[in-house]
Amino acid sequence: MKRLSIRAKITLWFSAALIIIMGLTFFVVLFIGNQIIQKTIRDNLIEAVEHNVDEVEYYRSLEEIKQISGADHFEQWGDGYLEIDDDFLDEVNDVYTSLCMSDGTLVYGENPIARYTEETAFADTEVQRKRIDGTLYYIFDKRLIQDGLDGLWLRGIVSEAQGAVQMTGIVRTSLILMPMIAVLAIIGGYLIARRMLKPIQDISECASEIRQGTDLNKRIEIGSGSDELHKLADNFNGMFERLNSSFQTERQFTSDASHELRTPMSVIMAQCELTLEKEQSKEEYEEALEVIQRQGRKMSKLINDMLDFTRLELKSDRYSVENINFSELVDSVCTDTALIREKGITLEHREDKGVMIRGNRGLLTRMLTNLISNAYRYGKDNGLIYVELRADEEKISLSVKDDGIGIDKDEQEKIFRRFYQSDNSRTGEGTGLGLSMVAEIVKFHGGEIEVESELGVGSTFVCSFKKI
Ligand code: ADP
Repeated sequence: MKRLSIRAKITLWFSAALIIIMGLTFFVVLFIGNQIIQKTIRDNLIEAVEHNVDEVEYYRSLEEIKQISGADHFEQWGDGYLEIDDDFLDEVNDVYTSLCMSDGTLVYGENPIARYTEETAFADTEVQRKRIDGTLYYIFDKRLIQDGLDGLWLRGIVSEAQGAVQMTGIVRTSLILMPMIAVLAIIGGYLIARRMLKPIQDISECASEIRQGTDLNKRIEIGSGSDELHKLADNFNGMFERLNSSFQTERQFTSDASHELRTPMSVIMAQCELTLEKEQSKEEYEEALEVIQRQGRKMSKLINDMLDFTRLELKSDRYSVENINFSELVDSVCTDTALIREKGITLEHREDKGVMIRGNRGLLTRMLTNLISNAYRYGKDNGLIYVELRADEEKISLSVKDDGIGIDKDEQEKIFRRFYQSDNSRTGEGTGLGLSMVAEIVKFHGGEIEVESELGVGSTFVCSFKKI
């Protein structure tokens, strides 16, 4: 059973249930059919006897009889005569009717089992049952009460066996029809199950193709619809979409990371080879070592940035969150970094007081530091960096503004991608991971980041968060 397909299992269960129901129905039909037939037999018996009551009449003399046209059968009874019409039904629908005296003596009519019923006492307008040689007989008696007919009874007898013929008919018809209906229903059930489960087969085939191959662009196509299976297919397609984009991002990340590491590594290798080629002066050795040290630092920073970034992306639940006084945090970071005075740049800052945020202190500090160090790195000599923290009824905005080199319109959307560096900043010390880290931290805090910038004029980065 375990090896069977769901389609076969559904068909089997359905067939078993159907056969049981049909079996029960068959017995119910037999039972009810038998009841109806038996009642019909008894009704026929009563009707035949009642009909015959009017067919028996009493006349005092033969003259009286002669006056009636069409007198059919007559015989002496007491001081007069009995006249029995031709319409007297002594055998109809297997019902035998006879005219008897109170002691059971037959006067007229037929009673094929008379000798067995002689001892059965007459019971007026009552159906009696008597089993003779295993066959059940219904007996119905009617006392004649017309003038002169005192002491006479009509007795009707019918065998219930005649119902057996009709029952055999019902059984035969049922035994032919029911299996036919069952077979048709089972075939119909199988086809419906196959049709209903087709989308599951499609889903399974698609998933198997994806498993065997590498093409994550494949999608399940089962047409339009809004039932459970279509929803399942949509969910699977959504999952494939997401997996595909994750894999692509991962692949891109690995390729970018290797690429970024290869450059300083190549410089180090080339520098080593060049230096080892021939004897060098002390100054030349120092110079070579400085180059190697610079490239080594760059690699180390890159590796650290990559680790931080992956940690945040994969294990964001490891970063605890608390209610933080954001105003104090921004003030402290700005006050410290203002001391740098790189390129003669001045840093000014202004914070609304008592702005609270729910987040991770380390990450928020990292976010602000990254933005400020970019502003220094891409700022112009003797320029100005302005950091502002504002809060209104609904949101908190942190902006970092500089009057540096600015960012081209086309590049503004790309700068948040991992390892992206514009051409004029590639030679610098950056790794291209700073802003993507910032974006990830903003996302972690449920916020949004935007940039406004103009080449040669400056840039403003604005991070917005919901107020707690
Ligand atoms: P990097 O390590 O190169 O600074 P980031 O991810 O921090 O990497 O920034 C990506 C790119 O965005 C930078 O290479 C630079 O071209 C641009 N950029 C970022 N901040 C600024 C800024 N304040 N002014 C101008 N350009 C910027």
